Amino acid sequence: MLTKGKELAGATSAELDVVLLGKTVGDFTKLLSAYANRVLVVEDKKLKNFNSSTYLEVLLPLITEHTPGLILIGHTGFGMDLAPRLAIELDMPLITDCTDLTIEDGNLFATREMYGGKINAKVSFCKSQGYIATVRQGIFSPEEGTLKGEVVSVAFPLTEEIEEKKFLEYVEAAVGDVDITQADTVVAIGRGIKEEKNIPLINEFAETVGGVVAGSRPVIDSGWLPKERQVGQSGKTVKPKLYFAIGISGSFQHVSGMRSAGLVVAINKDAGAPIFSVADYGIVGDLFKVIPTLKDKVKETKS
Ligand SMILES: Cc1cc2nc3c(=O)[nH]c(=O)nc-3n(C[C@H](O)[C@H](O)[C@H](O)COP(=O)(O)OP(=O)(O)OC[C@H]3O[C@@H](n4cnc5c(N)ncnc54)[C@H](O)[C@@H]3O)c2cc1C
Repeated sequence: MLTKGKELAGATSAELDVVLLGKTVGDFTKLLSAYANRVLVVEDKKLKNFNSSTYLEVLLPLITEHTPGLILIGHTGFGMDLAPRLAIELDMPLITDCTDLTIEDGNLFATREMYGGKINAKVSFCKSQGYIATVRQGIFSPEEGTLKGEVVSVAFPLTEEIEEKKFLEYVEAAVGDVDITQADTVVAIGRGIKEEKNIPLINEFAETVGGVVAGSRPVIDSGWLPKERQVGQSGKTVKPKLYFAIGISGSFQHVSGMRSAGLVVAINKDAGAPIFSVADYGIVGDLFKVIPTLKDKVKETKS
């Protein structure tokens, strides 16, 4: 998001500031200063856990003082809680879940998916002094940080406890035995695998290429892989360096979860399968013949 922020700031001769809230955030301060002109740090024990009411009270005076032209917030659970409240309080237009932001002729445009990823809409903001956008996670590739941003310590403005909303407990989301969102290589299977008894073939292939096994929705619905391994609109969004789509047709619901993968290799017996339109390499053939051959080739190359 900061790489994108730097690009947008450059296009408008603006500066890029980061606001960092937390209890003890020293380590992040150093890291972030390479990516911004200024890092505004607010530390307090009341900021140990996210609370949109507390964040709001800290951010409102900062935004009023610095008058940013654009505020970028991650489209995370926290961001989705915070951004609309900020937009209302500041009377600023908000566009959520952006997959791109551009400046054209001095005007800001955002791209966001509609109809579950079937089409992309390019939208403009209504005229305002400032804008807010929440940005989809993992959508921009980070560049190396080359800036040496000034670190500015900002006093925590609250003395009273926030009563309207309290932090109770942090519950870690289940990631199962494997977190497919963190893998460099994902080997995804679809209905083309036909039966559960064929999955060991894919496990062996995944082991050979050093990948984790994931699946399309029918594979998960059949109970052949756990829910945490589902890629797509109602599953996980993955961005591995290498993605194998094996016996997957390429429905837009599936593609919306893997379109940002670095290199996509699709194996499908139907040359007209839509997955080939998002693949860098396509193999038209029967997966039960292709996978063993590919596995042997990889082993041969490795040795
Ligand atoms: C609201 C909603 C949310 C959804 N969310 C998701 C989601 O998150 N993720 C998701 O994946 N889907 C999702 N779906 C389902 C989606 O629409 C598709 O039905 C699904 O992605 C199809 O899965 P598939 O490609 O494995 O199966 P199919 O579309 O049946 O494709 C199987 C493919 O395997 C190929 N094949 C068959 N045999 C072989 C063989 N021997 N060798 C090589 N190729 C072979 C066929 O040519 C075919 O292309 C969602 C649907 C809805 C309505």
